[in-house]
Amino acid sequence: MISSLSKKISSYSKLAELIFFPSFCELCSSLLELPQERVICHSCWKSIRTSHPSYCLCCGRFFEALEKPHLCQDCLQKRPPFSHHRSGGKYKGRLKDIIILYKYRHFQVLGKDLARLVDRALGKEEEIWGGVDAIVPVPLHPKRKKERGFNQAQIIAKELARIKGIELMDQLLVKTKNVPPQTSLRIEERVENVSGAFGVAEGEKIKERIVLLVDDVYTTGSTIRECCSVLRNAGAIEVRALTVAQA
Ligand SMILES: [Zn+2]
Ligand SMILES: [Zn+2]
Repeated sequence: MISSLSKKISSYSKLAELIFFPSFCELCSSLLELPQERVICHSCWKSIRTSHPSYCLCCGRFFEALEKPHLCQDCLQKRPPFSHHRSGGKYKGRLKDIIILYKYRHFQVLGKDLARLVDRALGKEEEIWGGVDAIVPVPLHPKRKKERGFNQAQIIAKELARIKGIELMDQLLVKTKNVPPQTSLRIEERVENVSGAFGVAEGEKIKERIVLLVDDVYTTGSTIRECCSVLRNAGAIEVRALTVAQA
């Protein structure tokens, strides 16, 4: 009774919203008519390809060729400081457009939807979720967070922690140096740029524990590697990483 009443109220309020404040999908301009549609329409979300048949079993890099998942040359030569990294999809097309709307046009509401997309894309993948004690977002420097108004990784991490019932530790990893954005630098400058830029507060919380680091985009992996090294040095027994998309 109460739920049908609240459903009616929400559909009336959606109707009123459509009449007085019609809103359109930021990507395809179609009218947003479903109650849960915000900023992006349902069919744009559905058009995102998230499954990749072939990827590196360690760093999660997607392979173009249709071969079985295996270790890439880089991981064979030197294992990264994380045990596994996986992305929800490729940083291109609609997924890239949505991440840009989220990060740079401040559509903060898209963060939860992006988290749900990653959750659906990865399913129950044991190598990522099995035994995880804490979810930790890649932090922004306080100055940058103030400019953007939010930390994009923190919103995604918080929603994933809620869905999976895992503890969120969003104050644990801190950015101590306000370095230039990685996207503004050449690939060879990125490792140096983030070196020593992160620290851990209350490291005893992750001693002997398995931590999952969350970020929005994986490009060269320099940020993820640096954060994972810092978490390992603070005593985490294993660090895994998850990103919404990889470039
Ligand atoms: Zn659309
Ligand atoms: Zn690899």
